[in-house]
Amino acid sequence: MIIIGAGAAGLAAGIYGARSGLKTLVIEEKLAGGTTGDAPLVENYPGFASILGSELSDKMVLHCKKTGAVLRELESVVTLDLKGEKKIVKTNKAEYEATAIIIATGAHYRTLDIKGEKEFKGKGVSYCGVCDGPFFKGKRVLVVGGGNSACITTLYLSGLAAEVMVVHRKETFRAEEALINDLASKGNVKVMWNNEVSEIKGDKVVKSALLANAKTGETSEVPVDGVFVQIGESPNSMQALEAGVESEENGCAIKIDIRQRTNIPGVFAAGDVTNHPVMQIGTSVGQGITAALEAYSYIRRPYYRK
Ligand SMILES: Cc1cc2nc3c(=O)[nH]c(=O)nc-3n(C[C@H](O)[C@H](O)[C@H](O)COP(=O)(O)OP(=O)(O)OC[C@H]3O[C@@H](n4cnc5c(N)ncnc54)[C@H](O)[C@@H]3O)c2cc1C
Repeated sequence: MIIIGAGAAGLAAGIYGARSGLKTLVIEEKLAGGTTGDAPLVENYPGFASILGSELSDKMVLHCKKTGAVLRELESVVTLDLKGEKKIVKTNKAEYEATAIIIATGAHYRTLDIKGEKEFKGKGVSYCGVCDGPFFKGKRVLVVGGGNSACITTLYLSGLAAEVMVVHRKETFRAEEALINDLASKGNVKVMWNNEVSEIKGDKVVKSALLANAKTGETSEVPVDGVFVQIGESPNSMQALEAGVESEENGCAIKIDIRQRTNIPGVFAAGDVTNHPVMQIGTSVGQGITAALEAYSYIRRPYYRK
């Protein structure tokens, strides 16, 4: 079995694959650990009331190695041939063959690319409301975006923060009606239409944001403790889609069924690269486990195949 990506999903799959006796290879283009390592502090992964993201990911990597899974780091998968019984994985260094593949390549959050965003990432700038919202209890936060994720994040934060300001560059939201109605009923949510955030300012942590009004050209500085960037995520699914793996409708997240199967027999997907509605460490781990056990069934009990 080959697992592509050594984040929470890929490492969990690696642990289950190797422990079930499968010859398991995990290929990772960076150093193993994935996005978990980017989380400054994780307070919602069961068993760890509070742990640095980097510490949690290190533990997962060590655990995966200990089970006997082979981990190849700094090796990038460039093309996949998934049509036949044997799946071919080409990397920038070698070519491998496997009976089953798990795609666990994660996603990347879209960024604003403005001054202060990189500097204050993890110091007030966040891309995940569920992950970081509780750090802003009773504080003043700003959400950037106008789609479903921006609205869902705003609703979530409105239950925690004293005030939530939504900055959207258009005049209407591009979100589901029910979400928009829910937002309108929240007394602590204020929407700044036709505005863009042009800079995030602070000292050690975020203190304010500069807004530019697209209609009037006016700029203003608003004091905030946190900026949640919610302008979309892009799943790292390019190679898989090019190889014929089906994506969700109107998007490029990999479409999976409840058993993490894609449209191609023997090809599974897990974690943030899929169209699963929740993107968290715990859900990625769960999906990785399911994918590995399903891959095991696929490899060892071929009479299960349809
Ligand atoms: C700042 C931040 C804070 C967060 N905080 C929390 C939190 O507190 N709690 C929580 O539950 N969740 C949190 N999350 C979300 C959580 O980190 C992710 O949902 C989870 O880590 C996703 O795991 P994954 O294995 O699907 O993907 P990833 O961890 O992203 O792993 C995918 C891996 O695949 C590799 N890869 C991609 N393409 C290739 C390729 N072609 N070849 C080889 N390797 C490839 C990548 O390098 C990466 O290592 C946070 C996210 C961010 C960004």
